[in-house]
Amino acid sequence: MSALATEHNAVNLGQGFPDFPMSAELTGLVTEAMQNGFNQYAPMPGYMPLREAIAEKIEFLYNTKVNPGTQITITPGGTYAIYTALTTVLQPGDEVIVFEPGYDSYIPNIVVNGAIPVRIDLQFPGYKINWAEVRQRITPKTKMIMLNSPHNPTGAVLGEDDIQQLREVVQGTNIIILSDEVYEHIVFDNVKHQSILRYPDLAKRSFVCFSFGKTYHCTGWKLGYAVAPDAFTREFRKVHQFNCFSCHTPSQVALATFLRNKDSYLTLGSFLQQKRDYFLQLMTNTRFSMLDSKGSYFICAQYDRISDESDKDFAIRITKEFGVAVIPVSAFYQNGTDNKVVRFCFGKKEETLALAAERLSQV
Ligand code: PMP
Ligand code: GLN
Repeated sequence: MSALATEHNAVNLGQGFPDFPMSAELTGLVTEAMQNGFNQYAPMPGYMPLREAIAEKIEFLYNTKVNPGTQITITPGGTYAIYTALTTVLQPGDEVIVFEPGYDSYIPNIVVNGAIPVRIDLQFPGYKINWAEVRQRITPKTKMIMLNSPHNPTGAVLGEDDIQQLREVVQGTNIIILSDEVYEHIVFDNVKHQSILRYPDLAKRSFVCFSFGKTYHCTGWKLGYAVAPDAFTREFRKVHQFNCFSCHTPSQVALATFLRNKDSYLTLGSFLQQKRDYFLQLMTNTRFSMLDSKGSYFICAQYDRISDESDKDFAIRITKEFGVAVIPVSAFYQNGTDNKVVRFCFGKKEETLALAAERLSQV
């Protein structure tokens, strides 16, 4: 959709990336790191002061101690952290419970490891997990459950009730949890992010994946990290060692300093909540029916009052004819489920959102 947006000079509310500049202080710190000679390989698990800063942040936010030496690994992005975690644990024939719609890398990552995705639809339109169905779909081969909160593409977030259900589901099993928390700081309306790291009984069976690209408006940096217990991390690093080996050094050095300023992440939720609210206000002038977004920088909308086209045809047509690119949510299902919903990314400048909404009011 980004390529189509460029071709048709459309406002791009499709792919998830900000169109405003990242922090000049942070880019300054990268330059400084380069000038200070931090230009050679970082240690395989990551630059230690960055891992220490992450451990401090986790303790502050989630009230738990994580060992930076043995439980945190810096990765080239969250997507890679997820892939590496899957490759670390999956054997051919293992089953992985995965929810749809879901981030597009999950199922291909499961399949390439010879494992079997067990797909469960989130309940439309609130996109809640149907835990009764999860219980039914567990078999002796279930190796892993993948979670993502705040959720791409829907903006749904897990509540304490979900955590309780998860606990009951995994109790007495060896099921491993992979929790994709790349939008950990982007939660709205005073909702609390339910990091798996808050729950020691769950964290001890989990890989938790994060992304600096999402937090610091620098998706092109491709830098993130995985947090996991010692034994999981040891195996994870064996995969990482012979794949990427180590990540870009100057940005790790810069982030080690920048991360210690708590405002750098604590302000992100309200910053994006304002954008969500601004966009919602603008969209009242359109015929889209907006769904709820409690987190991430995505919000979905139904367009059944406008058209009965497939979501893909609709998304392509409005990009070409009205100059606004969006993502058809069927793209986040393997079986192409089409609820006539499209996804907007509102992590954009106000003027971008205003121009998009003005065009969408013509649709
Ligand atoms: N998970 C989800 C749900 C995402 O939306 C993204 C952003 N593309 C990622 C993981 C990983 O981001 P990155 O690899 O760019 O750090
Ligand atoms: N996470 C972003 C999205 O879902 C971008 C990642 C991608 O394009 N693969 O739009």
